[in-house]
Amino acid sequence: MLYRSLKNDKNLISFEEAVLKGLSPDGSLYVPKRIPILDDQFIKNLPKLQISEICKYIIKPYIGKSIPDSFISNIINDTLSFPFPLKKIHDNIYVLELFHGPTLAFKDVGVRFMAECLSFFYKKIKKKITILVATSGDTGAAVAHGFYKKPGIEVIILYPYNGISSLQKKQITSLGENIFSLEIKGNFDNCQNIVKKSFLDKEIRKKYVLTSANSINVARWLPQMFYYFLAYKTIENPVELIFSVPSGNFGNICAGLMSEKMGLPIKFFIAPTNINDTIPRFLKYEKYQPLPVKKTISNAMDISNPNNFPRIWNYLYKENILQLKKKLFSYRFTDKETLYIIEKVWKKYKYILDPHGAVGYLGIKKYFKKMNHKSSLKAVFLETAHPIKFLDHMPLILRDEIIVPSNLGVFLKEKRKENILSMSNDFNNFKSWLLERI
Ligand SMILES: *Cc1c(COP(=O)(O)O)cnc(C)c1O
Repeated sequence: MLYRSLKNDKNLISFEEAVLKGLSPDGSLYVPKRIPILDDQFIKNLPKLQISEICKYIIKPYIGKSIPDSFISNIINDTLSFPFPLKKIHDNIYVLELFHGPTLAFKDVGVRFMAECLSFFYKKIKKKITILVATSGDTGAAVAHGFYKKPGIEVIILYPYNGISSLQKKQITSLGENIFSLEIKGNFDNCQNIVKKSFLDKEIRKKYVLTSANSINVARWLPQMFYYFLAYKTIENPVELIFSVPSGNFGNICAGLMSEKMGLPIKFFIAPTNINDTIPRFLKYEKYQPLPVKKTISNAMDISNPNNFPRIWNYLYKENILQLKKKLFSYRFTDKETLYIIEKVWKKYKYILDPHGAVGYLGIKKYFKKMNHKSSLKAVFLETAHPIKFLDHMPLILRDEIIVPSNLGVFLKEKRKENILSMSNDFNNFKSWLLERI
């Protein structure tokens, strides 16, 4: 498979190059030159196939010759070494729990996949690789953990001052070794801007082999397709399946839409957001107007200019609003609605949603209500993080009910030293720091 940038389909590059570059030099995102179509037999056999077989089959065409087949199997096995339970909440609503990885959020999958790919490429190019990443919380934690002590790779994480939870901060700042964290006086969009500018900066690129571990990187983005295939495999009788994906940067939902384009029979998707509602407004008024970011309790989605949306709009849907509206619904929800539903679902069904999953659940409820739903649709929402990660934001009555997962122990129990370097949100300031440190 070759990749092109969204702006230019003349320069084609390999998977390896797309992963190492992160963002294209023209400032736009990389996308596969074409989307491979799966054969019907594979879809039919999904329930019988093993998870690792399924994932290898899906991802292989996207990697092409960049990584040998036998090694792809290793990557998949290392990436998917934890469970992805699908549970029925009530009626025809199911949850796919994606938070059983080491940092308790779904981003572990993409990050671990990318870390394995980069480790392979490092052995080939033998040059130190620097990963520059902006985070609204969970990416940073997953990246720090996924790349910790990987030879030949260092990670620089930018996170917004006051924009992430205390646990997320601990997960990012307490590792040390090859993981460096910078607290930026600003919001997530400021952090993302610094990262984007760094990639376009000639002086920086001269000194560093720089790549990004945000969902703009194809190695982070593509393995997220696995979730949709796994849910489809697991759910009994998956005719008329829909997904609700709580969305911030729209990487996860974009991977879902890709799997549908590859031939996975999904009727449509819901991408609910918090009050940072650029996409719900876009689908309604057909105008793309990002507003300043507002803080919410689902803070991993406090993003107003979702950087994966061009992949959906320009690439998958060729700027065709009617086609897009057939496959994608998007609604916004307030913190009040989110907290209310967390309490209600707990009281009625004894299931504890985290604020992000709660937005996913709300998306399904809203669609069903709007459409006066009485059909045979089965709806899966993605539970993207464990509620313990957002304990400060959970309703009081629930805080003692949440069971601390064992893999969190290290971060909660040990009093690890946090290494914090604080910086303004001025790009030039960051640039001088970066150029002087080596
Ligand atoms: C990152 C994240 C999201 C949003 O995913 P996108 O791919 O950025 O849309 C939702 N929930 C949680 C817990 C996250 O960490």
